[in-house]
Amino acid sequence: MIYDLLVIGAGPGGYEAAAYAAKMGKKVGLFEKNVLGGTCLNVGCIPTKTLLRSAKALEDCHEASLYGINIVGEATLDLAAVQVRKQQVVSTLGRGVGAMLKGAGVAVIKAEAHLHGRNKIEAAGKVYEAANILIATGSVPATPRIPGLSDNPSVLDSTGILALDKTPKELVVIGGGVIGLEFASFFASIGCIVSIVEMLPNIAPVVDAEIGKKLLSELKKAGIIFHLSCKVVRIEGNILVFLDQDGKEQKVSGDYILNATGRSPVLKGLGLEELKVDFDRKGIKTDAFGHTNLPGIWACGDVTGRCLLAHAATREGIVAVNNMFGKADRMRYHAIPSVIYTHPEVAQVGATEEELKAKGIAYRKAVMPAAIAGRFMIDYAGKGGTIKVLVEEKYGQILGVHAIGGCCSEFIANASQMIELELRVDDVRQIVFPHPTVSEALKETILHA
Ligand code: FAD
Repeated sequence: MIYDLLVIGAGPGGYEAAAYAAKMGKKVGLFEKNVLGGTCLNVGCIPTKTLLRSAKALEDCHEASLYGINIVGEATLDLAAVQVRKQQVVSTLGRGVGAMLKGAGVAVIKAEAHLHGRNKIEAAGKVYEAANILIATGSVPATPRIPGLSDNPSVLDSTGILALDKTPKELVVIGGGVIGLEFASFFASIGCIVSIVEMLPNIAPVVDAEIGKKLLSELKKAGIIFHLSCKVVRIEGNILVFLDQDGKEQKVSGDYILNATGRSPVLKGLGLEELKVDFDRKGIKTDAFGHTNLPGIWACGDVTGRCLLAHAATREGIVAVNNMFGKADRMRYHAIPSVIYTHPEVAQVGATEEELKAKGIAYRKAVMPAAIAGRFMIDYAGKGGTIKVLVEEKYGQILGVHAIGGCCSEFIANASQMIELELRVDDVRQIVFPHPTVSEALKETILHA
C-alpha cells in the first residue's frame, strides 16, 4: 500500500496533522517510538500545568482570608498525591489522543522510524511508502557542556524533575527561560528555596522588557533568588559554581540542580544526512508552508527549531498538510501567542516594544492595570496585573499585546485573533466583550492606545 502521508512523531505537531489529513480522506500512517502525545502531553505542557494548578490551590488556601474564608490548621501540599493527579490527567488525555486517531482512521505504528529514500520509511524491519513524509520528531532537553553536569544524580532535566514526589528543600535552576521559570515558580510556591542562575542580564528574553521587569519583581517577591549575568562554570556534586557579574567565582547548592538551558531538535538517526535534507543544530529548515528543501518531505514543530510551542507545532502540521494536498495555507508566526505559566502568568502576542524600535516602526502604546476590569478585582484580591498594547501610529493597527497577571493566558487568544485579522483600534471598539470578565481590561487598554 502507498500512503498519502506518513508522519514521524506523535506529538501535537504530528498527531494533529495525521488526524487532519485522515479526516480529509487521505491514507495516513503515524510512527511513534514512545507514547502518543509527545513531549507536550507526557513531559511538557500538561504535567507542568497540572503541578502549577496544585500550587495555585495551595496559594488560594494561604490567601483564603482575603475572600472572607477562615481555614483552621495549615494547608500543605502532598507532592506524591499531586503526582497521582498529574498522572491521571496525562493518562486520560493520552487515551483521548489514541481514540481520536483511531476515529480518524490513522494507522498508528508503534516503532522508531527512519527515512529510507525519498518516499520511504523503515521501521521495525518493515519498509513503508508514501507520497508525502512529515517529520515531527520534536525536541529533547539540551545538554550544555558544563563540567560535572552529565551523569550527575543531583542534576535533573525538565523530565526528571517532573517525577519528584518529595518537595526538595533547595533547588538551583540553570536558565531563566520559560521552562526554568515555570519550575522555579512551582517549587517556590510549595515552600522550596529556589535560586536561578542566568547568563543574560534579564529573564525570559523573548518577553517585552517592561513586562519582563514586572515578572522579575513578582518572582523576587515570591522568594526566588536570581543570579543574573552569571555564567555557570562547573558543577561539583550538588554545588553549582558560577562567575558573578564581577567575574568572581560564587557557589550555590541545592538538593537538586535543574538543567533548564533549552531544547535540542531530534535529528539523530533519522537519515537526514543520507537524503541531504537541509538542517543545522537548531533544526530542519522549513519555509512558511512546511516545505523542507526536498519535495515530498515536510517538517513541523520543535524539530524545525522555529517556535517551540505546542500550538505552533499543531498549526505548522496543519499548514503542511494543506499545502501537500493542494490547499493554499501559510504560517503567520507574528500572530502566535505565547504564555509563561508562572504565578503570576505572562502572555503575549505580536511585536514587543523593543522589536518595533529596532525595526523603526512608529507606534503608540497604552499600559493599564488589569484591575480596571471589575472582574480582576473580584478574582485576584491583593494581586497586580498589567496590560500593554502597541498599535501602529497612523492607522492604529494592533501590533502587540503583552500582559502579566491572573487569567491573561485566556484573553490573549482574543488578542491573537485581532493581530491575525489585522484589526485596528476602531475595529475593536465595535466588538462586544462579556461583562464582567478580565478581557474587558484588554479592550479598555486597546481603546486607550
Ligand atoms: P514532541 O511533542 O516532542 O513530539 C515528538 C514525538 O516524536 C515524540 O513523541 C517522540 O517520541 C517521537 N519521535 C521522535 N523521533 C522518532 C522516530 N524516529 N520515530 C518515531 N517517533 C519518534 N508548549 C506550549 O505551547 N505550552 C506549554 O505550556 C508548554 N510547556 C512545556 C513545558 C515543558 C517542561 C516542556 C519541556 C515543553 C513545554 N512546551 C510547551 C513545549 C511543547 O511541549 C513542544 O513545543 C511540543 O511538544 C512540540 O511538539 P512536537 O509535535 O513538535 O514534538
